[in-house]
Amino acid sequence: MRTAIGTLELLEPKTLGTALKLLRTKGPLTPLAGCTDLYVALNAGTLPTRHYLDLSQLGPLKRIRMEGETLVIGAMATHTDLIRSKHVRRMVPMLVAAAREVGGLQIQNRGTLGGNIANASPAGDTLPALAAADAVVVLENVDGQRKVPFSDFYTGYRKTVMAPDELIVAIEIAPVEGRQWFRKVGTRAAQAISKVVMAAVRGRAVRVALGSVAATTIRLPKTEAALAGGASIADAQRVLMNEIHPIDDVRSTAAYRLQVAANLLGQFWAE
Ligand SMILES: Cc1cc2nc3c(=O)[nH]c(=O)nc-3n(C[C@H](O)[C@H](O)[C@H](O)COP(=O)(O)OP(=O)(O)OC[C@H]3O[C@@H](n4cnc5c(N)ncnc54)[C@H](O)[C@@H]3O)c2cc1C
Repeated sequence: MRTAIGTLELLEPKTLGTALKLLRTKGPLTPLAGCTDLYVALNAGTLPTRHYLDLSQLGPLKRIRMEGETLVIGAMATHTDLIRSKHVRRMVPMLVAAAREVGGLQIQNRGTLGGNIANASPAGDTLPALAAADAVVVLENVDGQRKVPFSDFYTGYRKTVMAPDELIVAIEIAPVEGRQWFRKVGTRAAQAISKVVMAAVRGRAVRVALGSVAATTIRLPKTEAALAGGASIADAQRVLMNEIHPIDDVRSTAAYRLQVAANLLGQFWAE
């Protein structure tokens, strides 16, 4: 590990109230959840922050529950928790499918939904499912809570609306009408970062979300409107290919991503 552990400070609050006070009074602090993303950067010695806030003792943030018709997933719920939850399986099977694709079992056991969202990678596997579900991110600081629609949460590449004294405490999902679909395409079937990842819903409305094709996870309103308006799948695929502008990078080429995204749309519609 290239970061000298002895020079790091770790605060370990036992309640959410204390955690939020520490964030306000002792900040800036870096929240630490399952540490699967943070540890990679610590190991590489590329993480500039030295003061950490351990969220692992905040039990209520691990809960997954129903509030009326709304599914409320605590930010500290792990990918394994999502896979095992009867509420998540019933309400958002595409999120369960996404959680199953995150890393291997060890990563699924430690990595949290809040961490996947806050890490803000355009390749985060749960993010298209949350976008297609019109999820709401619940943020909290000492002054109270605010709820941000998932589509407004990211403001640019690895940038979010979250303030330094805020934590993601939960994700809320209202019932999703229609059939849900999820597919990740990577170098291998398992343990690979996505080249393209799609979540979609076909009901009275059509919702299509893509990861790894832009600076943030995106919804495709033009493609959605084409499909909802009765366009042929070939026409909708043409709309999609004009709507996204993926880039070449170490993981893939723009041309490959474009073609795969169009193919995935075809699969979604055909299945
Ligand atoms: C081997 C390996 C394979 C992986 N494979 C995948 C994969 O296939 N797909 C995928 O999407 N990801 C993958 N990841 C990335 C990672 O596991 C996930 O992003 C995971 O969900 C991160 O959650 P965490 O709890 O470990 O986050 P942490 O590492 O603890 O934190 C990540 C970031 O989120 C912030 N944060 C965490 N919780 C909160 C909160 N409640 N409020 C505010 N900020 C918060 C932290 O400060 C940090 O900036 C992989 C990682 C590894 C090491």
